[in-house]
Amino acid sequence: MINYKVVDLSTSKSDHPKASILIIYTGGTFGMAYSEDGALSPFDFNHVVEKIPELKTLDVTFSVITFTQPIDSSNIHSHHWRAIGHIIYENYDKYDGFVVLHGTDTMAYSASALSFMLKGLSKPVIFTGAQIPIGSVRSDARDNFLTAVEIASSKKNGNGIVPEVCIYFNHQLLRGNRSRKIRSSHFGAFESENHPPLAISGVFIEYNHSFILPSSNEELNFQYELDTNVTILRLFPNIQQGILESIFSADGLKGVVLETYGSGNSPNYPWFISCLKEANDRGIVLFNVTQCNGGKVIQGRYETSKKLEEVGVVSGSDITTEAAVTKLM
Ligand code: ASP
Repeated sequence: MINYKVVDLSTSKSDHPKASILIIYTGGTFGMAYSEDGALSPFDFNHVVEKIPELKTLDVTFSVITFTQPIDSSNIHSHHWRAIGHIIYENYDKYDGFVVLHGTDTMAYSASALSFMLKGLSKPVIFTGAQIPIGSVRSDARDNFLTAVEIASSKKNGNGIVPEVCIYFNHQLLRGNRSRKIRSSHFGAFESENHPPLAISGVFIEYNHSFILPSSNEELNFQYELDTNVTILRLFPNIQQGILESIFSADGLKGVVLETYGSGNSPNYPWFISCLKEANDRGIVLFNVTQCNGGKVIQGRYETSKKLEEVGVVSGSDITTEAAVTKLM
């Protein structure tokens, strides 16, 4: 159970603001400050607003819900995803869009998870964060945040332009479940190698309309149950039989994302293949995802992936590991 509180924000001065946005602040570098021992830790959202006075001048009304204890996203857990999903679900009719402030380390996992948990979206859910805290001179927080709000509040024919779970970061709007954090010390922390950006922000925000999902006509459906008895197994040369067997015999294991080489290849020596076959026969779902950042799994293209197909490994095609593991859940 995650505790959260509502923070009041001055709203737009206009009589007819173009949109109302709910901001969900979970923590992350975005709102961190240096503690006495020199480490970065998250601080209260009230201080964040002081650093972005422009928020008050936008033609948008806001509410902010913050986790009572903002977290470093390395500590994210399925109950945080449930809390974020629950907040959006409960407040869905009251707002035109949602901005989730989140640490970058696991943002791609959270955006992927929420994209699978919130079915039938007709409003934008935009994740963003920062590489440098909002209080620092060269922080990327301000631009990321203000543009995420701009995107969440942009409409066409009265509907949100991007009715999807996305990540906005460093001038790019990416589909959440296609994104990965691939750089830890550049402002361009995220990429979605296998899918074009949904928008690029420069002087104008240019939307890539043909790649944006259509708005759902159905009611929002919140799938809050997750089974976290899954794991990720990244292959490497010299992987040991005993270690592999002990992973597959873990109590309660239901699914494994198998991070394979290139276009979905693995060793094809007999002990390896029979280990997979035995796991598959016990009902463990084996999901084949490439270790490469781009490209896709094509089982059977090489001799070294034919056997995977034969023993029931499911091809993940061009899915990311982050999306694969959350989809399994
Ligand atoms: N460790 C931080 C987090 O993920 C990093 C960041 O926000 O960029 O919460």
